[in-house]
Amino acid sequence: MRIAVIGAGFAGLAALQQCTSDTYNDQVVCYEKTDQIGGTWVYREETGSDRYGLPIHTSMYKSLRANLPKEVMGHPEYQIPQRPQSYLTRKEILDFLHEFCDHFALRPYIRLLHHVELIEPAVGDRKWTVKVKDLQRDTVITESFDAVMVCNGHYFEPNKPKIPGQGLFVGQQIHSHDYRIPEIFDNKNVVVLGAGPSGMDLALEISKCANRVILSHHLKENIFTVFPKNIVQKSDVVELTEREAVFADGTKEQVDVVFYCTGYKYSFPFLAETCGIRVDSNMVTPLWKHLVSIENPTLALVGLPFYVAAFNMFDLQVRFILRHWHGERQFPAKADMLRDEAEELAGRAEKGLQKKHFHMMGPEQDRYYDDLANVAGIKPLPPVLTKLHNESSQRFLNDLVHYREDRYYIIDDYNYTML
Ligand SMILES: Cc1cc2nc3c(=O)[nH]c(=O)nc-3n(C[C@H](O)[C@H](O)[C@H](O)COP(=O)(O)OP(=O)(O)OC[C@H]3O[C@@H](n4cnc5c(N)ncnc54)[C@H](O)[C@@H]3O)c2cc1C
Repeated sequence: MRIAVIGAGFAGLAALQQCTSDTYNDQVVCYEKTDQIGGTWVYREETGSDRYGLPIHTSMYKSLRANLPKEVMGHPEYQIPQRPQSYLTRKEILDFLHEFCDHFALRPYIRLLHHVELIEPAVGDRKWTVKVKDLQRDTVITESFDAVMVCNGHYFEPNKPKIPGQGLFVGQQIHSHDYRIPEIFDNKNVVVLGAGPSGMDLALEISKCANRVILSHHLKENIFTVFPKNIVQKSDVVELTEREAVFADGTKEQVDVVFYCTGYKYSFPFLAETCGIRVDSNMVTPLWKHLVSIENPTLALVGLPFYVAAFNMFDLQVRFILRHWHGERQFPAKADMLRDEAEELAGRAEKGLQKKHFHMMGPEQDRYYDDLANVAGIKPLPPVLTKLHNESSQRFLNDLVHYREDRYYIIDDYNYTML
């Protein structure tokens, strides 16, 4: 098969590794719009647009250390080399990705500085037409493929909620996508919107420079962790005035900065409408198993689920797709795939989850992994990954300030220990 892979982050590299393995030996081209592999793990000082006028992809900030232990961040066929600590720096993760790339000799397949502008179903022998801009030569080329794996990430298109008075506020408003260093908040009063992993981590980080940090969220209860004294928790911001944030509990605070840690939107700007993929309230649909386009099953979107053991899951997803694309497993009828998706959506709604949570896995991620493995008849992921992921997420919530000092060791497929 001739396969296009869009993006050379964790997901694109996982795709390349399998496609080029002896099992399949597919002809594969990976297009990457930036000048290096690694996706969001590449730190860049600049924000806004790059020298080619394209939006900066990465959301990485300077001091970032992973929020998951390396023991769950490796690849089934290439683990992160032993190091004393479990929680690695962004540079260590990026170095690992480069080592991975070299270990499996993936670089010849990657075309850096190639921006995919358009993907649409083709009319000739091959199923897909991919229009790509070679950014250095400033030329556009069109190539044909039998199948496409979209691996473009989902932490680059900021989600910024609309708040009455946003236009009146005279202070600074910044999204975490554009955040790099805490010094920009020196002596400022900052309201951080959102208490997801980024909001909590960043509230802590900027509290070293800011005068006061107000962590605003709509969690039912206050976050349990012990924060430094200059961080306080408040309800949602319901309005902004010239200099104040007004909270849902009726209180007001003078603030200098509104810091949006409000997450990201799934975005596939290069998929033509005829590809049959839409994003509905941040649910990407219609997809079978969060992965395969139901309208055009030779199109797969790798890496959508979040709160997962990313590299392991990406590899599993890719193995799942290749089994189907190579005819070792048959795709169900379209109506059955649609029913599967509708049933999962209904099941999640019963648990009180909204459409925007459709791709969230978290504590039950192992059910998704096992389902993929069972349906495709492929090697499952070891249960210890979910166990350790859950433990680490709990430790994050309970002891934000110290959890990165924890050190883990995986004993076998089911057990780990804390060192
Ligand atoms: C701040 C931050 C911290 C995180 N911390 C962790 C962590 O501690 N542990 C963890 O497991 N996960 C973490 N994540 C999640 C992280 O996104 C995943 O680990 C992983 O990097 C996702 O890989 P990806 O390949 O799907 O996407 P990305 O890494 O975003 O890679 C996508 C690639 O596609 C390229 N691309 C996009 N559009 C085009 C186009 N049109 N043409 C060509 N190329 C294109 C991009 O340039 C990019 O290189 C974090 C995410 C963020 C934003």
